[in-house]
Amino acid sequence: MTEPLDKIHITVGNITQLSVDAIVNAANESLLGGGGVDNAIHIAAGPKLLEFNKTLGGCPTGLAKISPAFELERQGISHIIHTVGPVWHGDETASLANTHEDVLLASCYHQTLTIAQQHKIKTLAFPAISTGMYHFPKDRAAKIAFGHVLDFLTHHDYPHEVTFCCFNQEDAAVYQEIIDTRMQWMYNRKRICPA
Ligand code: ADP
Repeated sequence: MTEPLDKIHITVGNITQLSVDAIVNAANESLLGGGGVDNAIHIAAGPKLLEFNKTLGGCPTGLAKISPAFELERQGISHIIHTVGPVWHGDETASLANTHEDVLLASCYHQTLTIAQQHKIKTLAFPAISTGMYHFPKDRAAKIAFGHVLDFLTHHDYPHEVTFCCFNQEDAAVYQEIIDTRMQWMYNRKRICPA
């Protein structure tokens, strides 16, 4: 059986150009388009995405909604899951999971993964939700993202694989360090308590 950690990948690039079943959009509450990754996804999916999203009635922060991928279907992406991350107003000295923003960001990952599971989506790619215009601290956001994805993959059949799509090498290094730390922890645990 594949270890949950082996189902997690990191890539650098434009999320609209990946070969996955579904991509996640870091949207705003209107779901009618915005800047950053939201804009890139709306451009790549074409105007039918906006027409469809008008029927969704928006989405509160921390929740998620699914749409077809329209023009992106040509490259094999069947769905877009739109989730609304929190704007960071938090206290960076607070321990992880203890700010309102931490809870909302964790909810974005959980809600998105739950929808992916319901639609039997095998491969899913996330951008670094809230870390652009919403100013969530990158390391903190990556720890929340990684922790929730790993936990979900440990307990559910779908999705089979999750990719963290980073827009640049520095962002990817943040995720890589978190994964390396986890792998080291698992290695040490196996040495201390062999199965
Ligand atoms: P938010 O408003 O949730 O902060 P942004 O779109 O401003 O959303 O940024 C979220 C993350 O997505 C940032 O790390 C940004 O660098 C990244 N990003 C922007 N465009 C793309 C893209 N086309 N593909 C992947 N990631 C992207």
